[in-house]
Order: sequence, then structure tokens, then C-alpha cells
Amino acid sequence: SLRNRATSRNPRHFNVPLDNLGLPKKVSDYYGELTFDFKTSEDISDATKKEIIKALDEGRGIKKDHAEAIAKAVTDWAVRNGATHFCHWFQPLTGGTAEKHDAFFSLKDGKPIERLSASQLMQGEPDASSFPNGGSRSTFEARGYTTWDLTSPMFLIETTNGRTLCIPTAFVSYFGESLDIKTPLLKSISKLSPAATKFLQLAGHKETTSVHVTCGAEQEYFLVDKAFYYARPDLVMTGRTLFGALTTRNQQLEDHYFGLIPDRVLAFMQELDYELHRLGIPSKTRHNEVAPGQFEMAPIFSEANVASDNNQMIMTTMRRIAEKHDMMVLLHEKPFAGINGSGKHVNWSMSDDTGLNLLEPGSEPQSNLRFLATVAVIVEALHRYSKPLRMAISGAGNDHRLGANEAPPSIISAYLGDTLDKIFHTIMEDKSFTPRSNNVIDLGTNQLAHLLQDNTDRNRTSPFAFTGNKFEFRAVGSSHAIGFPMTILNAAVTDIFNEANAYLEAEQAKGQTVDQSLMSLIKKLMGNSMKAVFNGDGYSKEWVQEAARRGLPNLRTTPEALKTMTNAEDYSFLVRNGIFKAEEVTTRYNILLERYIKIREIEFETMIDMIHQYVIPSGLEYKSVLANLIKGQKEIGVASNFEMDAYKKVSTKIDEIHSLSTNLQKELSGDHSDHQKYAEKIGSELMTMVTTMAGICNELEELIPNQFYTLPKYYDMLFLR
Ligand code: ADP
Ligand code: MG
Repeated sequence: SLRNRATSRNPRHFNVPLDNLGLPKKVSDYYGELTFDFKTSEDISDATKKEIIKALDEGRGIKKDHAEAIAKAVTDWAVRNGATHFCHWFQPLTGGTAEKHDAFFSLKDGKPIERLSASQLMQGEPDASSFPNGGSRSTFEARGYTTWDLTSPMFLIETTNGRTLCIPTAFVSYFGESLDIKTPLLKSISKLSPAATKFLQLAGHKETTSVHVTCGAEQEYFLVDKAFYYARPDLVMTGRTLFGALTTRNQQLEDHYFGLIPDRVLAFMQELDYELHRLGIPSKTRHNEVAPGQFEMAPIFSEANVASDNNQMIMTTMRRIAEKHDMMVLLHEKPFAGINGSGKHVNWSMSDDTGLNLLEPGSEPQSNLRFLATVAVIVEALHRYSKPLRMAISGAGNDHRLGANEAPPSIISAYLGDTLDKIFHTIMEDKSFTPRSNNVIDLGTNQLAHLLQDNTDRNRTSPFAFTGNKFEFRAVGSSHAIGFPMTILNAAVTDIFNEANAYLEAEQAKGQTVDQSLMSLIKKLMGNSMKAVFNGDGYSKEWVQEAARRGLPNLRTTPEALKTMTNAEDYSFLVRNGIFKAEEVTTRYNILLERYIKIREIEFETMIDMIHQYVIPSGLEYKSVLANLIKGQKEIGVASNFEMDAYKKVSTKIDEIHSLSTNLQKELSGDHSDHQKYAEKIGSELMTMVTTMAGICNELEELIPNQFYTLPKYYDMLFLR
């Protein structure tokens, strides 16, 4: 049986290769061995390297002969390492990554050679017609371009039969519209940099010349034995169970979190870390998560664009390695109803070229004001652009998670903790405050830093929490590309930085000192956005009411959230700051809305199918056994109270589920030409309907004895490995 198969598996033996002394290699021996970094390549001259680095620092393109030098060096390296093909690797709007492979093999004067030209390295031309264009281009023009992103390292992907060189690229249409996640992310970072730099200078930190975004994304996931996975069509087709009765011990005990990592899982984690390290991905932590069968990994933070590419590589590598261990990774936000879902905690901050973390309270009291003003800018950005930020974390999967009493709600608020909260209130309320004294907030040297680093001052229920020296955007879904929410966040913060800069300049021109101008900026910003700060329990019902009272938007479903992209007032800051053209926003809206509809339709069709292929037949089989029993008992004169009762219950439930699934089928074949309307109907009416249907399936699952029930249960998927 499936159960025997799952429980009799042994952890997969996996040994790190040995070094010359016969000892297992250390991470530092193989870290990054599958990546190509032109800076350390021996095949590129130092002079060339210097010029390339300079061009990159200044945000210029690199010269053709420099590209030629890199192309030659990377080809030699890749071929030496067994690669036969190269591909432009990019993040399309539909999620995941896309690759189009080309062979290094080429013919020169009829002779076979291995070659990658500079132009092939720099630009590719995949047929864009296979990627959704959201109506952005006329259908006859299906061309799109991929353009090399030199700031993210090239790497080799390894499969059973060979290696392929992946070249991280951006993907744009023939008319220059971005059709991917990377292009706007890069734009948002390049817009944020000058805005934040100017802000730091106005705040007295004159040494800064550029600012970059830092990101460390914690990745949550479930592991399910392969045998159960393939026996659940819903997991295969939709990534989540569409129904399933809860077990007696779901996560009430929450003992799993601190418990031992099961052997089979640890074996997977070890191999995963090994592979990630070879890819130069700084995997750092691994542990159990709250739900049974749920785990987490987190890398050391890095530059946002690299972190975004790395997170995609992490998800792909997880899938590949888990299969070797006869397990499947579930990255869906809510694979099991009634049990904790998975998120991606996007830790986000900004650093300047002098190494200053903008969210690190400095050790001198005067830097505290600069720090507080930075926090105030971010909270104002979060408050003013809460709808676009909610939009950026929307998606069919995350709808099950946000606001389900176990994940941050769909209300966007910030957690600052008691210390910061108190400081901001003091600044806002104390009218007699004299920002001239050095002892601004009377915390003394280093005190603020100490207070804020205190790990006890944490809140795990906020969608956007300050955690000492960074913000943690916790509402992002586990399957999401982190590039999109980061793009919107960067853009929102850039917008407020620009506004703050204008304000500081004006105040300082009027003769205010740096401290005075920062102080009045903080008062102004926090006065406006303090209502978006919430330090209480974000999972509670009271917060939903309180947020409504404060006038904070609560966009519960994806269709509601996506509508933000049809309202110029909501998205104009993206256009104003040069992140998207208005048409690109429309493109994204169309693609994401269509994707939502498709995902739900597949779920509905799969549900109807499973009801008829599995649930009803199991019920009928049980009924027929009961009917025979009742008949037999009648013949020998024995009463059949229990049997009749069970028979009737199963009958009623089968009738109910059959009629509901017929209704759902009818709904699906109706007229759906108005996509927004249809999506909203799905999000409310049809989702309510399938929730009822799932409830009936679960009742049947509980009524029908195991021997007749053919689908793996939550018990199997969550506890057996
Ligand atoms: P938690 O207590 O939430 O598990 P950790 O301290 O383990 O948090 O860090 C979580 C993530 O935050 C890690 O990926 C870490 O590298 C990242 N991180 C730490 N500092 C920064 C920063 N300045 N910018 C972005 N990410 C950061
Ligand atoms: Mg965390």
C-alpha cells in the first residue's frame, strides 16, 4: 500500500565529496563552484575587469569587446565544466523561471567548435508568443528580447544528463515593455538609490554616494511523500488539497516547531544546502515550522536583485532535490485547509556604499534622528501605498492564507514595537521638544540600538514588522517571486524619499538645522501614518474592526486587490517614478487577473473530477456493502439501526455533493467575457460554493471507512515519512 511504501523508505544517503586528505569538503571549498564570476576569472585581464566594474558602478552598459572577453571566458569555463548548452534565464510574469536552451556547439568553416558570442551573451530572442502579453502587443508581433543582467552571476544547472549555463536576463517586448519580474525590480533599485542618497546627505551623512537594497527571504515549504502526492490529483494539478478532513492532532500541540527534524527531511536539507552552496546561494538556517510536515530555510541576505534570482533558484532546487528523496515540495501558500499556510518572509533594508545599514540605529545619539526619519519615511510609504502593496502580494494561493487567523491579514499595517512606538509618540506629542540638544530622546549612546535589537520585542502577526535593523515583509506568499513585492515597496519608499527630500531642503533653506528639519519631518510623516502602525495581535477579529475604524483598506481577495491596477490614482506613483509605463501596469493587471481565473478554474474542474472519480465511488461502494448487510440482517431477523443510519447519511451527502458539483459546472460554462466581474464572482460566490463542497467531501471522508476511501488523507500527507 501507499502507506507501507512511504513509511518503509530510508533517508537517502548523501555524502559531500572528499578532499585530497580524504576528509569531507568544507562549504568554503565548494561554495559557488557552479557560478561564474568575471571578477575572479583568470581568463580576463585585470584592466578589463576594472573597466567593467567601473561601468557597472556607474550604471552604464559595457563595451562590446569587454562582453566578448566575458563570453569567451565563460564559454571556456562552462565547457570545461561539462556544459553543452547555454540559456537566457528569466522570470516571466506567470511565475517560476523560463529557459531557452542553445548549444555552444557551432560550425566554423564547416568545423565543429564550442562558442558563445558576445551578442548571444548580451541578447536573446525567445519567441515571446508563448508568454502571456496581457494584450500589450498586437498578435503579429510576438518578438521579445532577453537582455543580460551582469549584476547577477551566471550559473550552471545540473541535471542527470548534463549541465547548462544559465545567463540571468531581463525580458522585454519588441517595443521595450517589460514582460518580467527583473526589469522593474532593477529600475526600482536604480530609482531608490539617488533618492535615498540625497536623503542621507540632507540628514547629514555626506559620505554616501549610492544606496542599494538588501534582502533575505525566508522560505517556508511542506514536504509530502511522493507516493501520496501522485495519488492526490489536486496536489498534482493545483498544488493544494481541495478538500481533506482534519486529523485528531493537527497542530494543537505545536510541538513540531522545536522538535527534532525527521531523518529523511534532514537528509533532504543537507543535500539542498550542498547544492545551494555550490550555486553560491548562502543558505544559512533550516528548521521545522509550526505545522506538521512544514519546514523553513533562510539564506544570508544579499543585494535585492541577486536575492530575487536566488530565491527562484532555491525553489527550483528544492523541487529537484526533494524528488531524489522521494518527497515532493509544496510551495503553495495553503496546501492544507485548517493548517498553517506557508509564506515568504522578505527581510528588507537599504545599505549605502560606506556600509551603513539605513535601518540600523547608529551608536551616536545624533544618528538616531536620521534613523527615525528613515523609519518614518517607510511607514508613510507603507501607509500611503498600502493598496498597491496589498496588490503585490495577491494571488489565488495567498487568498487562503491572508486573514485566516494564522497569517498576517490582508490589512497592510506596520509593527514598530513598544520602544519605537513610544519614541514616535513622544516626538509627536511633546510640543516643547527642543531638537537642539544632543540628548534628543534621552536614550544615551547605543541605548536605542540595544533596545531595538532585543529579540523579545517581536510580533509575528504583522504583515510588515520592524525587527531591529530591517523590516520583515511577512505577507508575501511562499510561491511568489519576491521581485514584484520588492519593486512596489522600493517604488513606494522612493516616492516618499523624494517628497521628504523636497521638504528637508525647504526647511533647511529657511534656516532650520539638520536635526530640526528631521524632527519636523518625522512629526509630519508620523502624524499622517501613525494609524497604519499596529503593535497588537494582527490575527484577531478586533484588529479587523479597529482597522476599519481607522479607515485602513482591507482588500480581502485577489480580484479586489488587482483592481488597484485599474485606478490611476492608486498606481500613478509607479509611473511618476519611472518604474512602469501606464501600459505596463495594464499588461500586468491583465496577466495577473487571467492567471487568477485560470488557477481557480483548474481548481474547480479538478474538484468536480475528484468528486466523481473518487469521493462518490467510495461512498457508493460503502453504500452497497451496507445495503447487502441490511438485506442479510433483515433475512435473519436482526435490526439494522446503525447500518440504516450510516446508509442514509452517506446517501444524503452524496446527493448534496452531486447537485452542488452540477451547479458549479453550470457556473463554469456561463458567459465570462467581463474578466474583472467574473474574477470577483469567483472570489466571493464560487469560492463560498467550493468551501461548502469541500465541507461535504470532508464529512463523507469521515463517514466512509478507510478501506473504501481511496485518496490519501491529511494523516498520510502530514505525518507519514
Ligand atoms: P528571524 O528571527 O526572523 O528568523 P533572522 O535574524 O534569522 O530572522 O534573519 C532573517 C533573515 O533576515 C535572514 O535571511 C537574514 O540574512 C536577513 N537579514 C538580516 N539583516 C538584513 C538586512 N540588513 N537586510 C536584509 N535582510 C537582512
Ligand atoms: Mg523571520
